[in-house]
Amino acid sequence: MKLSKRAHMIKPSPTLAITAKASAMRAQGIDVISFSAGEPDFDTPQHIKAAAITALQEGFTKYTPAGGIDELKQAICAKLQQDNNVQYQKENILVSCGGKHSFYNVIQALIDEGDEVIIPAPYWVSYPPMVALADGRPVIVSTSEQEEFKLRPETLTSAITPKTKAVVINSPSNPTGSAYTRTELEGLAAVALQHKIAIISDEIYEKIVYDGYQHVSIASLGDEIKTITIIINGVSKTYSMTGWRIGYTAGPQELIAAMNRIQSQSTSNPTSFAQKGALDALQGSQQEVLEMVDEYQRRRDIMWEGLTSIKGVSCYKPQGAFYVFPNVAAFFGTEHKGGQIQDSAQLTAYLLEEARVAAVPGVEFGAEGYLRLSYPIAPETIKKGIQRIKEALSKLN
Ligand SMILES: *Cc1c(COP(=O)(O)O)cnc(C)c1O
Repeated sequence: MKLSKRAHMIKPSPTLAITAKASAMRAQGIDVISFSAGEPDFDTPQHIKAAAITALQEGFTKYTPAGGIDELKQAICAKLQQDNNVQYQKENILVSCGGKHSFYNVIQALIDEGDEVIIPAPYWVSYPPMVALADGRPVIVSTSEQEEFKLRPETLTSAITPKTKAVVINSPSNPTGSAYTRTELEGLAAVALQHKIAIISDEIYEKIVYDGYQHVSIASLGDEIKTITIIINGVSKTYSMTGWRIGYTAGPQELIAAMNRIQSQSTSNPTSFAQKGALDALQGSQQEVLEMVDEYQRRRDIMWEGLTSIKGVSCYKPQGAFYVFPNVAAFFGTEHKGGQIQDSAQLTAYLLEEARVAAVPGVEFGAEGYLRLSYPIAPETIKKGIQRIKEALSKLN
């Protein structure tokens, strides 16, 4: 069968591929420590599950409106007002099948062939393919470790062309854990307004932040900036609900209506009872979230201290999310058993074989010279994994 050009354009998700390889090794009885997953290890809080179970038992098992139930949209508006100080009506909200689906729908509704979307690197692996699927052009702009992996207003300005439609801001960031300050966001907002480009603000990690950092939504910086901003968020990361598939978009009414039309002819509504679970997540007790974030911070400290104690490794200290992005370029050009290690993919393969540790090569996030390690795993396992990495790296010369 002859497949579409589109089908050939898309590679499988590298993070999923590495997780699968590590699982296959485990299935063979090899004890692999995986730092490659992209999701929380905690269970969904009990009261959220109970809300979904009740919905099921009460027969809430049919189609809902394609863009989500009003009750959930209202709860999202209340959340955005309370947490992010930004005011929306339910006409500004679309509930989708995960934040990834929200982003996909935004791009489908916004991007024509040849339109450019500026994506700062290191980036979440799914942004460029989703732009490409809409026949748009992902324009990758590198940021540096010295600049805390943040896009500077001058860099944004120089990447803008007459074809630029939008810029993606992901704060706190997957894969670096870097998070913008209000002042930094103001700088970017000014450039976007001046050049009339949209800002797609992926805020999925807003609650997973450390050391007292306060998340700022760029949409809250003023009425003008709000009109060009599209917020993407969801319950996957904050509430350990990755499998539930509930995400949402807040943005201009016209865009939301267009996304709703697209969604109504593709997935239709996100799962009915999962919406009820998400409603409870937003409205119920936030106690578990605070506990989970405390635990993530403890693990970040173990992870970061362990990695930076390895000779040759430097690492930005994350302010949010649950990933570290160590610089391992010092090990390129080294050898083991006669084989050379030239890049992050080869180093990842070496670590999987030699240390039985799975990580994701930085090149997959658009930044060669780095690895991404996720730490939603038990602290004892983190320590063991770091020790293995340390030993394996010390054998390279
Ligand atoms: C996990 C993630 C998402 C969305 O995840 P969903 O499970 O689809 O809600 C969006 N952006 C980033 C950067 C992520 O890491």
